[in-house]
Amino acid sequence: MEHFDILRIRDRVYRILDEKADTFYLVEGDDTAAVIDTGAAFGSRIIPLLRELTPKPLILILTHVHYDHSFHMDEFKTVYMCHDELHMPGWFLHQMLMGKADRLCETHHIDTDYAIDLGNRVLEICKVPGHTPGSIAVFDQLDNLVFTGDAIGSGCGVWMQLPGSTSLTEYEISLSHFMKWLLNRTSSPEFWGGHCLQRWQSAKIPGDNPLSMGLLADLIDLVRGLIEGTIQGWQIDMAQEFRAGEAFNAAYGRAEITYNPDNL
Ligand SMILES: [Zn+2]
Repeated sequence: MEHFDILRIRDRVYRILDEKADTFYLVEGDDTAAVIDTGAAFGSRIIPLLRELTPKPLILILTHVHYDHSFHMDEFKTVYMCHDELHMPGWFLHQMLMGKADRLCETHHIDTDYAIDLGNRVLEICKVPGHTPGSIAVFDQLDNLVFTGDAIGSGCGVWMQLPGSTSLTEYEISLSHFMKWLLNRTSSPEFWGGHCLQRWQSAKIPGDNPLSMGLLADLIDLVRGLIEGTIQGWQIDMAQEFRAGEAFNAAYGRAEITYNPDNL
């Protein structure tokens, strides 16, 4: 039986960590509870765990379809995701969905400014293409929280070298839009990423490197610098299955990235 580490981060908001350090969240309103991503607890189900935390009807919001975020989607009747995920190369999409591709046609499409009312708690969606073509972030107005999946990494770099990742040029537009979208709502939200232990795993920043508006600003500068050639990366070894071409790392300020130099 999988062990889950549960942290109550607000009243009726929980962070759940599976054994592979995938992070997902439960956010409860007066009427409905939203699960944001699912982790990937092979051989276990997550509904029994969620039922220990809430009796409310459950919906699932996927930040993106990588298996470590979507593995348990077949346990839910109502699933929201951005259908731009289907722009991923078909072979990689099927690999990531681990045999659950037929569930995609049953999901509800969400995009920027889509709002989901849980009952006195509204979750707003912002599309942040980059890591995947249909990555989204979820903003919780009530508690000023933003759940970002892998869209900006979790503190030790964002993966942009994957099959299906957008070009850095598209990513820079996406990040700039995301920052403006957030600033229209809040000046300093609390960020919760898809692999929360990574904030302590940065190779460049010793100690704690939490997601923040500052890190997001650094990430925009980093991506812009790589596009313009004012920042140089260095090649790294990486298993072929995780990259569409060569894999390079680069860093600026608090931001780190892994990218494909042939996909600027
Ligand atoms: Zn991912």
